[in-house]
Amino acid sequence: MGLFDHVNAPKQKCPKCSARGYTGVFSGWQTKDRGCLMETLDPSEVGRFYTTCSWCNAWGEFRWAGDGHRLYVDNERTEVMLMASDQTLTALVMARLEAGRKEYGDKSSERPPVELVWEMREEVADVVGWLVQLDASLSKRSRAEVGDTELGDELKQRCAQLWRVLDKIEERVG
Ligand SMILES: [Zn+2]
Repeated sequence: MGLFDHVNAPKQKCPKCSARGYTGVFSGWQTKDRGCLMETLDPSEVGRFYTTCSWCNAWGEFRWAGDGHRLYVDNERTEVMLMASDQTLTALVMARLEAGRKEYGDKSSERPPVELVWEMREEVADVVGWLVQLDASLSKRSRAEVGDTELGDELKQRCAQLWRVLDKIEERVG
């Protein structure tokens, strides 16, 4: 018999820390809502789950709020709702598109498709380059602390897949 179950919710920035310029995070979520058998549960399966901030030790707890889980920090309600990882991607895409519109105006729809494909190739190449840098910097520290190189390998493979998708698109629009 265990003492709790794990919850595979994404990391969250600690609002207390970020208000003071630190970078504490909430990760390694746990719950006692279910069987406490040291299983890993999805957030959708539990009402409450919690952890402490890696920097300031604040208590972070997600509580089911009817339409999603809301973050409480030291028992104070915050505006943060739990987003699935792909929702986070969607939100970031929207924010970046909006920032792009403000900076350059709405010109991207006028750019030739071949040029857009080339721009995407450069971004894919950048991601792989950053992975190489990340790999180099992780080898100086404990890998177990931060994560797993397998994830980096998976991401590289996905970049290669994306590259091949761009090949196909280019055949059609080029
Ligand atoms: Zn904190």
